[in-house]
Amino acid sequence: MTPVGPRPTGGRASAPERRPRVAIDGPVGAGKSTIARLVAQRLRSTYIDSGAMYRALAWAARTHGIDPNDPSRIAALLDTIDLRLEPQLDGLNRVFVDGREITDDIRSSEISQLSSRLSEIPAVRERMVALQRAMASEGGVVMEGRDIQTVVLPTAELKVFLTASAEERADRRWLELRERGFEADLATVLSEIRARDDRDSTRAHSPLRAAPDAVHLDTSGLTIEEVVEKLLAIARERSVIP
Ligand code: C5P
Repeated sequence: MTPVGPRPTGGRASAPERRPRVAIDGPVGAGKSTIARLVAQRLRSTYIDSGAMYRALAWAARTHGIDPNDPSRIAALLDTIDLRLEPQLDGLNRVFVDGREITDDIRSSEISQLSSRLSEIPAVRERMVALQRAMASEGGVVMEGRDIQTVVLPTAELKVFLTASAEERADRRWLELRERGFEADLATVLSEIRARDDRDSTRAHSPLRAAPDAVHLDTSGLTIEEVVEKLLAIARERSVIP
């Protein structure tokens, strides 16, 4: 498995000081990806979508017909595939497995559920965490996921826990799925969100949880721009950015 490190999005050569690491966690549909992408652009940092790595593994397991209930085979699969995350200048993370681009394929409901199941496997998490830490080692990243502030980057300069009601998150996810061309039923999306919330927050290994020093930001009823501005204001208040 070979991750491609984050690509500088400009300014690195002329900015010798270490740039901050921003860790954004929260449940599915809280707006993490959109917010993290925009914040990364504003900070001229690299956005890293850690969930895409779990999704890529799920895609590979399904493609290779590997039983999701067999943790050792799933973990072994991670050692044999070439999984690449390529952060783009526009913030999108392109995803490749063994040279095949699967950026759009990993967004289906089936892959969502499977990635959530596979993310419960401790050996999978250990490997993913090591890769994610390596990608953030030079700073200048905005990383989002479920365990970024508690496990992957506990010393991140800014930790933000994004939330919103399950209903609002289901509405957003439903719209996003439709925009990506996937057929979806709102009630099903809501029950899937609840199932993933439950699994993500009750699993034994790295459950979804806010770090004790995280800033909580409820995005219900706020526009994307309002959330981005609030987050940047918090970063300024805490002197994470000038
Ligand atoms: O964020 P996204 O929905 O793409 O993540 C897919 C799944 O991967 C989540 O449901 C979660 O179970 C898992 N995940 C995780 N830790 C992360 C990111 C994602 O367990 N840091």
